[in-house]
Amino acid sequence: MRLDDTTLRDGHQTPGVTFTVEEKIEIARMLDEAGVHQIEAGIPVSSPEDEEAVKRISKEVSASVMGWSRAHPRDVEAVARTGADAIAISMPTSPLHLKYKLGIGWREALSRIREAVRLAKNLGLYVSVSAEDGSRTPYKLLRQYAEVILEAGADRLRLADTIGILTPDITKKLVRRIIRDVGIEVEIHAHNDLGLAVANTLAALEGGASWASVTVNGLGERAGNAALEAVVTALKVIYGKDVGFKLDRLYRLSRLVEKVSGIPVGYFTPIVGENVFRHSSGIHVDGLLKHPYTYQPISPEEVGRKTEFVFDKYSGKALINWKLKAMGLKLPETYVEELRMLLVQKAYRLKRALREEELEAEIKGFLALKGLKI
Ligand code: MN
Repeated sequence: MRLDDTTLRDGHQTPGVTFTVEEKIEIARMLDEAGVHQIEAGIPVSSPEDEEAVKRISKEVSASVMGWSRAHPRDVEAVARTGADAIAISMPTSPLHLKYKLGIGWREALSRIREAVRLAKNLGLYVSVSAEDGSRTPYKLLRQYAEVILEAGADRLRLADTIGILTPDITKKLVRRIIRDVGIEVEIHAHNDLGLAVANTLAALEGGASWASVTVNGLGERAGNAALEAVVTALKVIYGKDVGFKLDRLYRLSRLVEKVSGIPVGYFTPIVGENVFRHSSGIHVDGLLKHPYTYQPISPEEVGRKTEFVFDKYSGKALINWKLKAMGLKLPETYVEELRMLLVQKAYRLKRALREEELEAEIKGFLALKGLKI
């Protein structure tokens, strides 16, 4: 099971996101060091900037580098000129896209993709062929498409759920069926329009897909793509699978992409969101102080983060005692309860949680008030 990170291509297609060549190289280096197997670095035919980025990344990283292309000889040649070792050739397969977007028939589509694959193979490239809008393509056509590209020499089929309408169950069955009928390697390229990109990606892997398209922070068009951080962490936590990716790089990667994309990571975004390793409620904090897995699917250190305790209206004495201990103090039980109630009221007044340093300051204030020595 391998990861094809497309932050620099599909992620870069997010409206308003523009990576400079240097920024792309910085992200590519970090992805490479973390252990991504393939980096889809851009669309060489689209601009001199993207051509330059793909060229330079190909020289910089040890991962496979892929350039994106339509099924046009000009696009394919542009990818080959960059020195990238791999190409993603995209062609829609759904009747809707073929009729309204390209205005071509099925035979023409097959003939164009066949030629493009042959050209790319002649140019020495590893070829992934996308069935764009594959999830809205009748199975009979999808199967024929897969057979045609395999025959032309393609290395894998990228099954694109372009508008994110698959379910995990359908995805798994579809991938299994294609592999069984055609015997081609499958990559899943899931979009998150209905919040199912990660689930569908995992389902495809269960169904036998050997590659997953992912992006850092789920960056991508509309609701984005399957998020790298959720996919690799789920593989580890749920399936016990190590795909050779260094999970402890996830947070740094996320912060870098957040910074250079200008797209803020959501508060609740799995693994990398601000709230996901922050705890306040009494029962949870008490459990976590005894074992990190009581209320976390993975320990935050494993993904490059730290547990954060804050004091809020539902916080309890365990957190106060923990803080007192860290300060080298111990208080009688009645004082701890009195302090807890004061802090709860403070949290209500502020309508927010108290950070650790604020909690410490409040404790000091309480001790001074009671005439107790620090
Ligand atoms: Mn896409």
